[in-house]
Amino acid sequence: MTKGAMLYEGKAKQVFETDNPNEVIVRFKDDATAFNAQKKGNFDLKGEMNNAITTLIFEYLNTKGIPTHFIKKLDEREQLVKRVHIIPLEMVVRNYVAGSMAQRLGVEEGIKSPVTIFDLCYKRDDLGDPLINDHHAVFLGAATYEELDEMYELTSDINDILIDLFDKMNIILVDFKIELGKDSEGKIILADEISPDTCRLWDKDTMMKLDKDRFRRDLGGVTEAYVEIYERLKKVLQK
Ligand code: UDP
Repeated sequence: MTKGAMLYEGKAKQVFETDNPNEVIVRFKDDATAFNAQKKGNFDLKGEMNNAITTLIFEYLNTKGIPTHFIKKLDEREQLVKRVHIIPLEMVVRNYVAGSMAQRLGVEEGIKSPVTIFDLCYKRDDLGDPLINDHHAVFLGAATYEELDEMYELTSDINDILIDLFDKMNIILVDFKIELGKDSEGKIILADEISPDTCRLWDKDTMMKLDKDRFRRDLGGVTEAYVEIYERLKKVLQK
C-alpha cells in the first residue's frame, strides 16, 4: 500500500489517497481549533493520542457490531480507513447539559438529562455548522427520512456502548459528536474520529474535564488530559 496525494486537509486531520480507490489514509495533526477556528493552538502528542484513542474506540465498536470505516492503525499518526462519502450532518448526542446547549437554552452546565438528546448540525464551516432539524436535512438533500431514522438508531447504539465503556474508566460521557458516511456499497457507517476533541469527558470523582474544553476554556493540561484518557482506555480494554 502506498501513500498518494493529499485529498483534503481539515482543522485537525489530513486525508491521503492510496493505491486502493476504496481506502484512504487519515493523518492526525497536533493542531487544535475551537469556536469555528477563531481560536488556534498546537499540542505535542495530541495527534498521536487522538489516533490511538480513535483506534481503540473504533476497534471496540467493531467488536460490538457497529460498522465503522476503520481498517487499521498504520503508525503513531496515521490510520487506514475505508473511503466514504461523508454525510454533511454532525450527529451530536447529549447525556448531560453542556457547551452550546447550556448557553442556547440558559440551562446550567452539568445537569443530567432524563432523556438522550440528539442535535443535528449542518456541516458548513462558512455558516458555523448551524443547528438544524430533520426537515431541513431532507430539504438540503443531506439524507432521506429513512436514512435519518437509521442514523439516529446507529448513533443511539454508539451512545449506549460508549456510556458503558467510559463508565468503566470512571468517566461521565457528557456529550459527543460523530460523523457518518456512506461506503462504496451505500451502507451508512461510522467515520471521522471519536476522541477528547469530539467528546466531553468528566472524571466521575473530581468532575475534572478531560477533553477539548481544557483548550477552549484555557484550563491548561490539554496534553495530560488526552494522555489520561488513553491510559484509562488501555487499562479497561486490556491493551
Ligand atoms: N463537537 C465537535 N465538533 C463540532 C462541534 C461540537 O466535536 O464542530 C462536540 C463537542 O466536543 C461536544 C459536543 O460535540 O462534545 C457538543 O458540542 P456543543 O454543541 O456543545 O458545541 P461546543 O460547545 O463544543 O461549541
